[in-house]
Amino acid sequence: MKVGILGGTFDPPHFAHKEIAYRSLNQFNLDKVLFIPTGFSWQKDSSVSYKKRYAMTSLLIENESRFEISNIENNQDEPTYTANTLEKLSLDKDCSFFILGADAALGIKSWHNYEILDNFVQFLIAPRPDINITQIEEYFPFDYKIISGEELDMSSTQIRSFITNNRSLTAHLPENVIQFIQEESVY
Ligand code: NAP
Repeated sequence: MKVGILGGTFDPPHFAHKEIAYRSLNQFNLDKVLFIPTGFSWQKDSSVSYKKRYAMTSLLIENESRFEISNIENNQDEPTYTANTLEKLSLDKDCSFFILGADAALGIKSWHNYEILDNFVQFLIAPRPDINITQIEEYFPFDYKIISGEELDMSSTQIRSFITNNRSLTAHLPENVIQFIQEESVY
C-alpha cells in the first residue's frame, strides 16, 4: 500500500491542501493520503486548539474514501517533531511519501532532527508561487519529486485575513468548514 503523508498546522485547512493530496494520489499512484494535524506547531503562532484544527481537517476530507486523518500528533503540551511522528508511524520507506509545499520544503533544515527524515519517507514537493526549482535544488537536502500542476495561490494566513475582513471564503473552504468556523467562533 502506497501512502502519502500530509502534515500540517491546518489553521485552517483549505482546498489547496486537498488539491495537493489529490495530485499526489493521481501522479504517484498512491492508495491513500494520511492527513496529520500537528499537535503544537512550534514554528508558528497558532491560537487555535488541536481539537478544532483536527475537526476542521476531518470536515475538509469528509466523504473522500482515499483520505484519512491521524491523531498521532495529539499532544499540545510539547512541540511536535515530524521525525518522531514518522518513527512512530513505522512505515516502509519504499511505499511512504511525505507531501510538502515548496515553502515548507525550503525550511526543512530548521526542523528538529531533520537529517533523519529521509530514513522514513520519500518526498513530494508541490510548487508555490515565487519559489523556483533552483531554490529547491539549493536548499532541500534530500531527493524529491515535484507534484506537477498549476500553482495554487492560497494559504491559511490569507484565509485568516479574509475572515478578519469578512470576505467570502467559498473559493477557499468547503461549506462544512466555513460553518464550523462560524458556529465555533474559531477565529
Ligand atoms: P500548513 O501551513 O498547514 O500546510 C500544510 C502543507 O501544505 C505544507 O507543506 C504547506 O506548504 C502545504 N501547502 C499549503 N498551501 C499550499 C499551496 N497553496 N500550494 C502548495 N502547498 C501548500 O502546515 P505547516 O505548519 O507548514 O506544517 C507542515 C508540516 O511540517 C507539518 O507536518 C509540520 O509538523 C512539519 N514541521 C515540522 C517541524 C519539525 O521540527 N519537525 C517544523 C516545522 C514544520 P507551504 O509551506 O509551501 O505552504
